[in-house]
Order: sequence, then structure tokens, then C-alpha cells
Amino acid sequence: GRRKNGREPGREDDDDDEGEDYLFKIVMIGDSAVGKSNLLSRFARDEFDLNAKATIGVEFQTQALDIDGKEVKAQIWDTAGQERFRAVTSAYYRGAFGALVVYDITRRSTFDSVKRWLDELDTHCDTSVARMLVGNKRDLDNIREVSTEEGRALAESEGLFFMETSALDSTNVQMSFEIVIREIYNNISRKIL
Ligand code: GDP
Repeated sequence: GRRKNGREPGREDDDDDEGEDYLFKIVMIGDSAVGKSNLLSRFARDEFDLNAKATIGVEFQTQALDIDGKEVKAQIWDTAGQERFRAVTSAYYRGAFGALVVYDITRRSTFDSVKRWLDELDTHCDTSVARMLVGNKRDLDNIREVSTEEGRALAESEGLFFMETSALDSTNVQMSFEIVIREIYNNISRKIL
């Protein structure tokens, strides 16, 4: 099939069968060590890694969902450590239809950074990008520094979906990605039909 990139709707037409496939890019952003890589590996491979990884570089994983009988594929990008050098490039954001902005509920500084990440997203992507605010490490409730109410209030004021997750015990991980993927699918199919 033909694959469209950039800001074109991420729809693939395949002459060989009746179905229509969709492929679109989602980016994960947020401070270092908030759990972006583990959220993605939990979602895509159902794996969790307790050791902080040493590898640096952009990586993505593709995950397919069935929505309305259509195969909807999300290509989810992980900064894989780029943000440690505050050098997430514009190429990282290019063509994104959705974003998960992740903070760590046990580190307030990562929550304070959310505004900066949203500003950065706005400089690279247009306002139609589906956005989810994710407060990760919910399993560490006993050392929490950011309340659920604060997270929800920020999400509401910025017009974001909101979830608290744990990549460690899988809480809400699937749901967070699915909400973003469904929102993008809905936006795209509204534009096409
Ligand atoms: P990234 O730099 O944002 O990609 O963060 P990582 O996915 O590499 O995670 C950073 C550290 O936090 C690692 O040691 C993970 O094992 C840990 N971590 C990630 N998610 C969770 C979680 O939900 N709960 C707990 N307790 N630890 C987590």
C-alpha cells in the first residue's frame, strides 16, 4: 500500500483488500526517568525494566489496534534519553498526531516541567495533536509529591486527557495509549468522511 507522511491524514490505502489501514505517529515527551520507555515497552511488549537504560537515540515501536473493524497502527516514538541533553529535535515531533506528556508523581520537578514540554510541543506541532497528560509511578503512592487533583486540574486547564499510570504494575497503561489512539482515529475519520 501507499503510505502518507507528514500532516496528511495517516491513512493507508491498500488495493489488495477491502479494509483501510491507518498508521500514525505518537510521541512520548517528559523529563528524564519519568518512565516513558517503560510505559512504551509495557504497552507494546508487556515488559518492564527496573534498570535505567544506557542507550541513547530515538526509537519507536508500532502497535496495532482494531477499531471499528479497521486496523489502526500507532507508531509510538520514545526519546530514549535525548531529553537528558535538552535536545529533542524537531524531527522527533515531525508528523505527530498525538503526544503523551509524562511526569513522575514522586518528583514534583517533573510535574513543573510539563508546561515547558507543552510549549515545546506547540512550537513543533499544531493544536490538533491529541494530548494525554500521564502521571506515572502510581504504585509509589506512599512517596507521592503530586496529588491526583493537581494533575487533573492541570490537564483540565490545558485541555488534555489525564491518567495516572504504573508501568510497573500495568495500571492504566493500555488505556492511556488507547484513548490517544482512538481520539486520533476519530479526528482523522471525521476529516475524511
Ligand atoms: P524514561 O527516561 O522517561 O524513559 O524512564 P524509564 O522508562 O527509563 O524509567 C526510569 C526509571 O523509573 C527506571 O528505573 C524504571 O524502572 C522506573 N520506572 C518506570 N516506570 C515506573 C513505574 O511505573 N513505577 C516504578 N516504581 N518505577 C518505574
